[in-house]
Amino acid sequence: MANLREANARLAGVEPYDPKYLPAQVMVSANETTVDAPDEVRRAVAARVGQMPFNRYPDPLANDLRDAIALWHGVSRENVICGNGGDELLFDLAYAWGGEGNALLNVPPTFSVYAANAHLTGTKVVEVPRRADFSLDEEAIVERAGRGDVGMVVITSPNNPTGDIAPLGFVERLLNATDALVLLDEAYIEFADEGASSLPLFAAHENLAILHTFSKAYRLAGVRMGYLLAHERVVCELTKVRQPYSVDAVSQAIALEVVKHREAFEEGIARTRAERDRLAQALAALPSTDVHPSQANFLCVRFEADAGALWEGLYERGILVRDFSANPATRNCLRISVGTPEENDAVIAALESLLS
Ligand SMILES: *Cc1c(COP(=O)(O)O)cnc(C)c1O
Repeated sequence: MANLREANARLAGVEPYDPKYLPAQVMVSANETTVDAPDEVRRAVAARVGQMPFNRYPDPLANDLRDAIALWHGVSRENVICGNGGDELLFDLAYAWGGEGNALLNVPPTFSVYAANAHLTGTKVVEVPRRADFSLDEEAIVERAGRGDVGMVVITSPNNPTGDIAPLGFVERLLNATDALVLLDEAYIEFADEGASSLPLFAAHENLAILHTFSKAYRLAGVRMGYLLAHERVVCELTKVRQPYSVDAVSQAIALEVVKHREAFEEGIARTRAERDRLAQALAALPSTDVHPSQANFLCVRFEADAGALWEGLYERGILVRDFSANPATRNCLRISVGTPEENDAVIAALESLLS
């Protein structure tokens, strides 16, 4: 019997993505919204799905959804591409604007998926780390991006796991300094103050691409739908890379109803923002905690105490958060998603008892 040969050498030593999900009463580890989509949306979806032919392939590009998204953001259909979650589009971008001979300019600490995709696609990763206070080293990023060897720059705004916004003046300078594709990952932008989105820069900069997801503010993490706003040339290249039917008919129908009913989500977004600020104040009042200011639906909290032990203590009390202490830049940091008022009260009470 023959042995199986080795897989692609780039897979050696790669750890599969692990969301570190564990069952818990209070799940505040993955930046989801605790409350499900509004009933009116679920009812509209049920009616649509009840009529849907399951035997036929879906519209590969989800054109009805693209049109609705384009109208919403004031762009054309050719500027919109949908993906099986934002994560799929991140992989397609790594393939299309990365590969051998190309570099990704990454700004850690940030979402781990960018560097993982770069590795899988043979793209060199160039890092311009954030400062100790998590602010962007704007001069260094602009200078490095302009040297000519970078295919793509990723700026996450609000950043995951730190919650910081990228100032628009900086984004504009960066766009003008490089012909690299500048990806603004705005997965959490709905939770940020008005004026934070880079969308106003879109029309004048063909190298700007903006990533959005329905997983966070629009409460569809289980459905898998994300989209990119980009120049039609970018969309065209991505249509060469993407899996033809990655966005299934049911997900298209659900996302279309969410776009139509998007006002129904505004109250929940406002509640999350208010709860974020309440949670931040309460945690900042605890001994030896440093709550980083956040424009997202989570808080990055640094403790003087060992964050790994605090993570354990919280889990024993039924609360699942995300531990970032393995990375030196976020040593002793936990990322805590904003939940319902009751969940946030439980987090506050548990940390109060653990830290006293
Ligand atoms: C959650 C998230 C995404 C996309 O998530 P999907 O569920 O795949 O749409 C993209 N970028 C960041 C920074 C995220 O946190």
